[in-house]
Amino acid sequence: MTLAAADTQDVPQIDFDRFARLALCHRPTPIEPMVRLSESLGGPNLLIKRDDCTGLATGGNKTRKLEFLVADALTQNADMLVTQGAVQSNHVRQTAAAACRAGLKCHALLERRVPDRNDQYEQTGNVFLDKVFGATLEFRPPGLDMNAEGLAAAERLRVKGHRPYFIPGGGSNATGALGYAACAQEIMQQCASDGLSLQWLVMATGSTGTQAGLVAGFHTLGWDLPVMGISVRQPRERQIEAVLGLTKQTLAKLDGPGIGASKIFVDDRYVGAGYGQPAASTLEAISLTAQNEGILLDPVYSGKGMAGLIGLVRQGFFKPSDNVLFLHTGGACALFAYEDAILQGSD
Ligand SMILES: *Cc1c(COP(=O)(O)O)cnc(C)c1O
Repeated sequence: MTLAAADTQDVPQIDFDRFARLALCHRPTPIEPMVRLSESLGGPNLLIKRDDCTGLATGGNKTRKLEFLVADALTQNADMLVTQGAVQSNHVRQTAAAACRAGLKCHALLERRVPDRNDQYEQTGNVFLDKVFGATLEFRPPGLDMNAEGLAAAERLRVKGHRPYFIPGGGSNATGALGYAACAQEIMQQCASDGLSLQWLVMATGSTGTQAGLVAGFHTLGWDLPVMGISVRQPRERQIEAVLGLTKQTLAKLDGPGIGASKIFVDDRYVGAGYGQPAASTLEAISLTAQNEGILLDPVYSGKGMAGLIGLVRQGFFKPSDNVLFLHTGGACALFAYEDAILQGSD
């Protein structure tokens, strides 16, 4: 769909005022052309939505979700946010910062999910920033049901007299996903006012809230812009099922129309050895984007997302005339925990 500037007033609106929301985010984040990267790939016109610039604690996609989640915590009179993530979780870092902004405490469980990391990995990057924001941290071995662990920790804190509010990993429930339904509306408004038409949106997908929120938002707005999620951790079928499940829950919250699996696009060819382990294509994407655009990606999420976009361009997946928007979900703090892998090439 092409939206002309004159149509700006006619952009459909979702009424987000019926949900509690705390302003944490610099909005709208810019949409910028990636001229040199587009040229060097000889591909379609690539653009980037700068959700690495959401403003809170170096930015990232979790901040949009936290606007709704932290507001819900305050509505419930919580005095503490409890959440969980991998050791280098961007979600935990943004939750710790959001807690400070809202006058809440933060307790986080960090899963040692990534094998063979050095000491740096548990001390620098996001872990360091969690401590700057005063979060209390507990480590866990890999393979546990981390949301169950988090709920159990919240219950222990409740018994001690705290009023914890539990946020699932990645902030990925229907409340958090509202942040990306709102982002879908923001993108639609930007396209309308800039006279920009988009054919694809490409992004990294992990705990699914970002993709589910975007798809639910576009679907409710009646815009069938396809969203390609580049999986950072699991096979395509499982990721599609997980994204679809949360998309349906988010649509229910928005009173939106029903949806089927044919609207969920996932590519799982860029995962590499597993979650948190950058592949050669991840490292190439990080250096191509840094050296053509001056933009930092990360080794866990956005580097894999961009590797997927670059791979699709090289495979001729897009038409030369297409406008393809990459959603930069942030994460560059984790670069410091992966210095050795990035400087040495693939690991
Ligand atoms: C969490 C995260 C993602 C994935 O978003 P989900 O909503 O968990 O799918 C992508 N990029 C970065 C940098 C993240 O921190």
